[in-house]
Amino acid sequence: MNLAYTDFIFTDYRKRVAELQASNNPFAQGLAYIEGELYPINEARIPILDQGFLHSDLTYDVPSIWDGRFFRLDDHLDRFERSLRLLRLRSPLDRHGIREKLVEMAAKSGIRDAYVCMIVTRGIKFVRQYAPEEIENNLYLIIQPFLWVMGEEMQKTGGSAVIARDVRRVPPGAIDPTIKNLQWGDFVRGIFEARDRGANYPILTDGDGNLTEGSGFNVCVIKDGVLRTPKRGVLEGVTRRTVLEVAKANDIKCHVEDVPVSAAYDCDELLFVTTAGGVMPITKLDGAPVGNGEVGPLTKTIWKGYWEAHYDPMRSFALNY
Ligand SMILES: *Cc1c(COP(=O)(O)O)cnc(C)c1O
Repeated sequence: MNLAYTDFIFTDYRKRVAELQASNNPFAQGLAYIEGELYPINEARIPILDQGFLHSDLTYDVPSIWDGRFFRLDDHLDRFERSLRLLRLRSPLDRHGIREKLVEMAAKSGIRDAYVCMIVTRGIKFVRQYAPEEIENNLYLIIQPFLWVMGEEMQKTGGSAVIARDVRRVPPGAIDPTIKNLQWGDFVRGIFEARDRGANYPILTDGDGNLTEGSGFNVCVIKDGVLRTPKRGVLEGVTRRTVLEVAKANDIKCHVEDVPVSAAYDCDELLFVTTAGGVMPITKLDGAPVGNGEVGPLTKTIWKGYWEAHYDPMRSFALNY
């Protein structure tokens, strides 16, 4: 039998998914917290006048649970609190309350591998008509079975990407990309362009010849054993942070700096990194192979270290189901 490097996590994960699918827990497909109440995910509804829906006036964050352990939740909460402060939003539940509620929801659902989402929206009053301090903001929490930006099969061989040429990343002076946001107009255009060009994912540039990021993931290029990832115009991903830590622990040099577009065409290995997918190898760029066209050795080292980190008690804690 031919063993794939991805079996390291997916063999056990597939068993857990099968168990979840056989469960009769009413929350097994997910649950949502809305205005203080819990709902099965398929019955969850938001108020139509919520400004999060009408004007994308919100911020959010996405931590994850892997094999029954919450991964880097405090790092996600740190980023979430910063985003709230910068957008002048106030969560109806404080940090401690959100943490407790998420832990309670995960345990209730029985979901052991989860995509977790917390959103604070402006609420039902529009900032054009009301002073921000008069507006009550809304908190939504969601726990769903783990979502994969790149699934198991594609991780084995690597996905394909394009450098978008019809759209650039929105500039930081217009929308601050370090605040996690759902103003995805640039990314959605990029996704359609990638599809039109026969690829799976877009990488957006900053319009000045540098890479930024793609639709919900950071980008890393590896050349001659050195990993580089763009510094500016991107969300500062928690996955990226773990990847940098894992790379350093494996004596791979790392630089967070401006990375020219040419570095993507000229690299040995290319990876996309995000919570909902982990470390995702890209083996084809603009129709041409990246390096030798196969998932590279440093990518595999980082991939394994990334998933091992999920069991590190300094980075994760076990839930009681
Ligand atoms: C969420 C997100 C990422 C990845 O961040 P993680 O913290 O690693 O999940 C990268 N770019 C954008 C635009 C994002 O929204």
